[in-house]
Amino acid sequence: MKFILFNAREDEKAAIASYQKEHPEITLDIYSEDLTEETMAYMKKGYEAIIVTQVVEIPEAAYRLMKEVGIKVFAARSAGFDMYNLQLLKELGIRFTRVPVYSPFAISEFAFTNAMYLSRDVDLIQNNVETGDFRLKESITSTEIRKKTVGIIGTGNIGRQTAQLFKNSGANVIGYDIYPSKVAEDFLTYVSSVEELVEQSDIISLHVPATKENYHLFNKELFEHAKKNLILVNTARGSLVDTTALLDALDNQQIRAAVIDTYEFEGPYINKKVDLEEITDEVFLRLLKHDRVLYSPHVAFHTHTALENLVHIAIDGARRILLGEEVEEELKLDE
Ligand code: NAD
Repeated sequence: MKFILFNAREDEKAAIASYQKEHPEITLDIYSEDLTEETMAYMKKGYEAIIVTQVVEIPEAAYRLMKEVGIKVFAARSAGFDMYNLQLLKELGIRFTRVPVYSPFAISEFAFTNAMYLSRDVDLIQNNVETGDFRLKESITSTEIRKKTVGIIGTGNIGRQTAQLFKNSGANVIGYDIYPSKVAEDFLTYVSSVEELVEQSDIISLHVPATKENYHLFNKELFEHAKKNLILVNTARGSLVDTTALLDALDNQQIRAAVIDTYEFEGPYINKKVDLEEITDEVFLRLLKHDRVLYSPHVAFHTHTALENLVHIAIDGARRILLGEEVEEELKLDE
């Protein structure tokens, strides 16, 4: 079998190499570039599958060339697929597979760790240390997690794991989901609305997908329901939070702090070395500079385990489809 892989990043090299070691029967040609009008010529007759993880749009001509050279499977090294033209893949008869679950532990651990960092005021303590202020003060007297209520919005794969981490640490955990899960009831108590959850929670962690219904779920009105000591954690999707409303709520001391791993307009910055002086997005600049925001550039998933799963499950999905096996991760485009 011969596959072509685009967008290979430096941090994925070990995972790609370990897959190649396990499957020497597959010839894998690897390119670090995106698949564009310029690079599509790398696709030649003989390739049976293409493996990508691409944020920028793939040109229609590239999809058509896949068909021409005989590619039968398109495998995405990601859970999301809104960036791919599935309609065209369907028309061309190219099958599509992806990696819906690669490590819920990676994201939940990141949400938990950063929430605990702010919950124990480590940021404030560090600021004091930097100025030589080693005194014990009311402003750095924290509340233990056992005395706090943690609200989980979205109790799917990642939300449930996050709930478990907080529960195991002694927190009172409540949850909200449009489809409550029986399994989750072992470690959280469901409430019947987002407002109810917001009114009770000291920490809120978001784990729902971005949909039309929950666009700017956290807006000015919802922040008005929040407790003054709320720490909001968003490792899900940027569009769930109206960032200006969040920054205003922080400035007005309506809420206490925020962990932001996903920002609504993060597109131009993610996985890039950026000159901070050249950023013109005023809201993003405000977010970056805010004292009580722990910002990270969409890295919650980024562990060795997650990378290995993303690479291995994507390539292996293509291999197994070509061998005629039933692949759980395949999205059946014709159904
Ligand atoms: P999942 O599909 O397993 O769970 C999502 C849950 O949200 C489901 O239980 C669903 O019923 C619920 N839900 C959907 N819309 C809702 C709404 N409006 N209100 C309440 N509940 C709602 O998804 P997952 O794998 O747990 O992923 C959760 C989020 O994490 C997604 O937004 C995903 O994009 C994000 N994510 C972020 C990173 C990162 O690196 N930061 C990595 C992977 C996934």
